Amino acid sequence: MRVWKRRGAHRVRKSLDAKLKWRRPTLMSGAAFCGSSSLLSDAGCGGGSAKRSSMMPCRHDVLQLDCSPFAELAGFDRPDARKRLAATTKSGRMLQKSGSAELEKGAKVESQTFPGPLVLPHDDLNYDPDGPAQSFKSWLNEKHRNRVTPGRKTLYVAAVPEVDESVGFMRGWTRVRVDGAGGAPSNGLGKRKMVDGEENERKRAIAEDEEMQSPDVHDVVGYLQAFYHGMHVKQFPQRLRWVPWKEKGRAATKMNDIPRYVALQYGDRATRIRARPSPDGVFTAQLNLNDILDAAIAMLPADAYSILLLVDHDIYESEEDDFCCGRAYGGSRIAVVQSARYTPELDERDGIEYAHAWPMSHCKAYADALCGVEDVVPRPATVSQIRLSKTGPMRAAITATSALSSPPTTVEDLRALWLSRIARTASHELGHCLGMGHCVYYACNMQSTGGLREDARQPPYLCPVCEAKVGWAVACELQRGGEEDRKNWVMERGKALGEWCKKWHGVGMWEGLRAWLEARDKLVGIKALKW
Ligand SMILES: [Zn+2]
Ligand SMILES: [Zn+2]
Repeated sequence: MRVWKRRGAHRVRKSLDAKLKWRRPTLMSGAAFCGSSSLLSDAGCGGGSAKRSSMMPCRHDVLQLDCSPFAELAGFDRPDARKRLAATTKSGRMLQKSGSAELEKGAKVESQTFPGPLVLPHDDLNYDPDGPAQSFKSWLNEKHRNRVTPGRKTLYVAAVPEVDESVGFMRGWTRVRVDGAGGAPSNGLGKRKMVDGEENERKRAIAEDEEMQSPDVHDVVGYLQAFYHGMHVKQFPQRLRWVPWKEKGRAATKMNDIPRYVALQYGDRATRIRARPSPDGVFTAQLNLNDILDAAIAMLPADAYSILLLVDHDIYESEEDDFCCGRAYGGSRIAVVQSARYTPELDERDGIEYAHAWPMSHCKAYADALCGVEDVVPRPATVSQIRLSKTGPMRAAITATSALSSPPTTVEDLRALWLSRIARTASHELGHCLGMGHCVYYACNMQSTGGLREDARQPPYLCPVCEAKVGWAVACELQRGGEEDRKNWVMERGKALGEWCKKWHGVGMWEGLRAWLEARDKLVGIKALKW
């Protein structure tokens, strides 16, 4: 048995969920409170299967609906069917007494809709297999959870800050560097590459013009309105702006041509933000997310339930981080999500296999190939695995998504793919603001993430435990409804999300989610999920 150690590097999403820690505002945004619960890494997995799929497209015939065979080696012990069912109830107990055989059968049917977490090598549960499970009951009774109230019910999303002319160089920081230590991105896009100084103005203008803009805040807001159906999701009315940081009348000192500090301005106030070169050289510089979160605390409006800041710069949390994609402090109701690292331009460099992004990530051949890297011998598919793979919401999602031409090639399609990634992480981080911890029950939008590859494998839906929490917050606490209203909310939310997905048809994640929702609806209709 091998011992799995952290090889900390690329942080993706992390929050201090279980304890709902607060982000304390600091005067000087210095080495403040920084909740490093665990280091995450996403070191070298997936090479084998990427090679194979480029030779012959995978048909995803058999699905991995339970944890991968690697989970046991990682020491992950998934809550069993009885615990999962009990975790969705207010009392923490199962509503009906069911025999083991009945539960076993029910769990198999359930896995066609809600598969288990994959737990592949280098996934977050690989490094943190004993992470606490937060049931609906423990969420409900969490002392420090902020309730949504009629006076404090708005989820604000702030658009990417504008760049003031005086810090015009910061525009260059959002572009992938061709000469970065990570190597040139080579997916054929090449439109965000920096233009050499010797190139003439016209060429520069064309490059600027063709540059793929990071996704629009209105689209992120639109998705969150569907995802948090019933909550008030609005764009933050103030425009944020990057400006220089000046101390005692002097501009901040520079380090490798990168100022040590810049400032984030909102209204007539500004917060100092640390800057540093991106350690892996993929971007020229990155910004400290704790400082950005200090600004978020300062701008939280009175009627806000929470605020999410979008930035298109690379961000980091602690000195030893390479980067961090998103972060929430649930207790303080603040979150930040970056778009820079999610650009499809970096997919090849980061080893993200489009053909096995969610929902295709639940393909057994793919999971086996990744486990094989760690000497786990794949087991042949069982009769039951083959049977369960043929129908159900996960199969419907895979059929719908794999029918799309892949990977996307037009700027428009790539930008939509980019949006879907940011939107999903935004919904995850806001989940922390609602008091939700990381989910260990199922593959779920609230799962923790060990890196960009795992991020691409995770679903955009909420599992039954997490959906129960959001349903309670919206239908019962905010709208003061009862159990029946909570059930209706699940249906209404499904419809809202379905509408969103139809509008964005052609985007893999949302095409899959649409088919998944439709198939789930049918199952709910025949009560197959109520076991
Ligand atoms: Zn998280
Ligand atoms: Zn969940």
